Amino acid sequence: MTDTTDRFRDIRDAVRDLCRQFPDEYFRKVDEQRAYPAEFVEALTKAGWLAALIPQEYGGSGLGLAEASVIMEQINRSGGNSGACHGQMYNMGTLLRHGSAAQKQAYLPKIASGELRLQSMAVTEPSTGTDTTKIKTTAVKVGGKSGDRYVVNGQKVWISRVQHSDLMILLARTTPLAEVSRRADGMSIFLVDLHQAVGKGLTVRPIANMVNHETNELFFDALEIPADTLIGEEGKGFRYILDGLNAERSLIAAECIGDAWWFINRASAYANERRVFNRPIGKNQGVQFPIAEAYVETEAANLMRFDACRRFDAHEACGPQANMAKHLAAKASWEAANVCLQTHGGFGFACEYDIERKFRETRLYQVAPISTNLILSYIAEHVLGLPRSF
Ligand SMILES: Cc1cc2nc3c(=O)[nH]c(=O)nc-3n(C[C@H](O)[C@H](O)[C@H](O)COP(=O)(O)OP(=O)(O)OC[C@H]3O[C@@H](n4cnc5c(N)ncnc54)[C@H](O)[C@@H]3O)c2cc1C
Repeated sequence: MTDTTDRFRDIRDAVRDLCRQFPDEYFRKVDEQRAYPAEFVEALTKAGWLAALIPQEYGGSGLGLAEASVIMEQINRSGGNSGACHGQMYNMGTLLRHGSAAQKQAYLPKIASGELRLQSMAVTEPSTGTDTTKIKTTAVKVGGKSGDRYVVNGQKVWISRVQHSDLMILLARTTPLAEVSRRADGMSIFLVDLHQAVGKGLTVRPIANMVNHETNELFFDALEIPADTLIGEEGKGFRYILDGLNAERSLIAAECIGDAWWFINRASAYANERRVFNRPIGKNQGVQFPIAEAYVETEAANLMRFDACRRFDAHEACGPQANMAKHLAAKASWEAANVCLQTHGGFGFACEYDIERKFRETRLYQVAPISTNLILSYIAEHVLGLPRSF
């Protein structure tokens, strides 16, 4: 597709080769069984792809966000779903940017080698939704004056990959909302060792859902975590999380673009091959144009995605570009999914074509990790200077 992607040819080819070992049948079966693609994630880890953003001094490959985004894109473009493993890419960034030297030394090399998985981040709560500053999960410091531990109480929802992770980043209130002058203050993040926590104050309840996405409700009942699991300064956790969102959105945009290209390729191939009324259905402009339109939109989203990545890698402000990239790409992939399904007629609904699976998977991106409305609200307020609405 666009030349912008050519300079990543080596990465693209290598990830594509790895993905070829996991054909459509593999992901179809994993989806049917609502299983975790453990072999696939292990192969990616072994090949070092999930450590792309970890600096070389910690055993990673020290690549930029643009390269990392190509890895995610290529997985989705090959028919897979990065949702099983993308958490590792951006959660690690929080530890890298805000963790202490001791924390980084203790965890990053093991994450890079695959010995430890940091696939989960627990932010969303059932009663507060997108209104994150109102979260009710608390972490209270106990243990005398120095305070050697925190006690966590509360509930989270939609927390992904907990059953396939060793570590989880947790956002909790350490100072009540009523006692802070700015609502974003008073929240902190912790690096929770899931093996130490589950069954000892943390209960994990899986949520059956539309896509094969391992996601859970979490219940914290007086869970004790060591004080040195705090990342960065107490009370600044929400800012640290926000900090990582531009990377997350750019990576998700790339996944959507990978999906969109998969749908467009399938739709074009089928439109050329399927004959109805003695001619390929693709000869009809009513069939051609929606596919062409999806292609145009995907290419435009792709440019914005690379602009966001370039700015991020150059340490420039990239909030608007990352948000716009995610928005455009999620819209383009959803449009391409719809067109692909329509082009296939009844066969689009047959599981063996994989379209219905990818259709469900790509729909998620309109809602998670950030819903479409919240992106538009960001652009309206922070780019266009319109009044704050909430
Ligand atoms: C499969 C899956 C995996 C997920 N994984 C994780 C995870 O690993 N960790 C995690 O922390 N979270 C995770 N989430 C949660 C996800 O980030 C949220 O679902 C998402 O941010 C939307 O929040 P909500 O569901 O609470 O919707 P709500 O906040 O309840 O919003 C519902 C709808 O109302 C709209 N809305 C709300 N307020 C406004 C407003 N002021 N103006 C306009 N529209 C508004 C929203 O756009 C949305 O469409 C996951 C969700 C899913 C479905």
